[in-house]
Amino acid sequence: MIHYKTSEEVHIIKESADILGRAHGEVAKYVKEGVKTSFLDKIAEEFIRDHQGVPSFKGYNGFPASLCISVNEVVVHGFPSDYELKDGDIISVDCGVFHQGFHSDSAYTYPIGEVSPSILALLKATRDSLYLGIEKAVFGDRIGDVGNTIQRFVEAKGYTVVRELVGHGIGRNLHESPEVPNYGKKGSGPLLKAGMVIAIEPMVNLGTRNIVQERDGWTIRTADRKPSAHYEHTVAIFEDKTEVLTTHKYIEENFKF
Ligand code: MG
Ligand code: MG
Repeated sequence: MIHYKTSEEVHIIKESADILGRAHGEVAKYVKEGVKTSFLDKIAEEFIRDHQGVPSFKGYNGFPASLCISVNEVVVHGFPSDYELKDGDIISVDCGVFHQGFHSDSAYTYPIGEVSPSILALLKATRDSLYLGIEKAVFGDRIGDVGNTIQRFVEAKGYTVVRELVGHGIGRNLHESPEVPNYGKKGSGPLLKAGMVIAIEPMVNLGTRNIVQERDGWTIRTADRKPSAHYEHTVAIFEDKTEVLTTHKYIEENFKF
């Protein structure tokens, strides 16, 4: 069942998303070579709790941390750890905030130091595909139009789209209906109606689209161990517009490359 939000509820999600955006910005200050990914998690958790939020992910189905940190071949759901970021890595930082009864969710993939041009191009294409998908996420179109746009754009560049993991509705629950796949047929899937709030989150691989789950029960990596990128925004559909509720603005202010 899809929960359609009132404009008041969308407003609360936007407040949640503002805390989230600023938490990402705080983390961005520390994303560099030599930093332990567990330190980034600590920064995010402290910032969120200091700003009337609760980390959405911590304790979600037993997830142990406030951030999902996914380095290189890890697609999503990586654990923060003692791993120290090194030159040439890419790192996806995924975070959610729960505030006044509502969740927001967004992710950003950073390059660390000198990243090869082919991997930088993967990051750019994945980020571009998110914004193209958002442009398609308009009242009266269908979920399949969003996924089709993302899929066609990245596959034309020779990349592949992860199928097993998808975007989602979001609101009182972190994951709600509908599923928002990053692939699909034009004109298929649920209609986009006013009051829908969805997280769009392309996961794009340099090599095969196939993934495997590590024995920890969470970490998802590419089957061929080639890198994967991930960007995400939470957006609200209105009759006359689509509003991006989350922001990468604070990341981009604090992280230059
Ligand atoms: Mg996320
Ligand atoms: Mg999500």
